[in-house]
Amino acid sequence: MTAGLSVVCRGLVYIYRLDGYDIVALSGVDLDISAGESVALLGPSGSGKSTLLALLAGLLAPSAGRLTVGEHDLVRATAAELQAMRAADVGVVLQGAGRNLLPYLTAEQNVRFAQRGVPAERRRSLPDPREVLTTVGLTGRGRNRQRPQRLSPGERQRLALAVGLAGRPGLLLADEPTSQLDTRARDEVLLALDAVRRAGTTVVVVTHDPDVGRRMGRTVTIRDGRVGAEGRRGEDYAVVGRDGTVHLPQDVLRMLPPGTLVGVEPQPDGTVLLVPARANVEGVQ
Ligand code: ADP
Ligand code: MG
Repeated sequence: MTAGLSVVCRGLVYIYRLDGYDIVALSGVDLDISAGESVALLGPSGSGKSTLLALLAGLLAPSAGRLTVGEHDLVRATAAELQAMRAADVGVVLQGAGRNLLPYLTAEQNVRFAQRGVPAERRRSLPDPREVLTTVGLTGRGRNRQRPQRLSPGERQRLALAVGLAGRPGLLLADEPTSQLDTRARDEVLLALDAVRRAGTTVVVVTHDPDVGRRMGRTVTIRDGRVGAEGRRGEDYAVVGRDGTVHLPQDVLRMLPPGTLVGVEPQPDGTVLLVPARANVEGVQ
């Protein structure tokens, strides 16, 4: 078992500063992930998913807000502390398997190389690279001795996961680990992720694939740089933002286009009605 790490984001803001102008990629993310939970981050392209993942990984520093991963306060942490956290506690699998792999090393050597970054006192307790490869279903047929190019795309993606898991992290972050894979390869990656979740590791996966979302148990949809919706066990919920705003789902937005006036009417049974104003109602001009 690996002790999973919890994640807390409060009003998390990230601004890319280009010369002359700023791009607000995250505009106040509130998100709690419990230790051992697995979450799929969904949302349209450009909504801020990869930026959020990079912040959780300590690869980017928050512009404002609070962010903790396990015991680590990522707002206060120095560069050296962030580096130590990445080496010992957080596994990152960047989008595109190849970006995580050294092409001239075998599968086993890639995992071993990733373990070299782990602090010496922790390194002794790490699993043998072949054991990590077994977790992601990459054993047999001499695949541990193959270089990445000789593996199939699905195998390569699972090797990238193995590299992310090499240091036995409490938090695994993976950006689009199933994109560009056929169904069978995708299912194999999902099986590998299931094994990681069962081991108690907290998992956060960015994905476009609703099936991957269902598999993770909890989905968090990022819209315009904040959490717009959540899904739990197949139910979808809008999330009330800290400023009181709610992102309406698309089908409701068609009924209540932007600019619509709505009465917000709390009911005795605890539900709340949204009642659009009709233009011809007395008193409404
Ligand atoms: P997603 O992963 O959901 O597609 P990103 O986190 O990549 O979204 O991007 C969020 C926003 O930040 C987008 O508007 C994108 O154009 C911008 N962005 C992402 N990376 C950079 C960067 N390196 N420099 C400037 N802007 C960026
Ligand atoms: Mg992205």
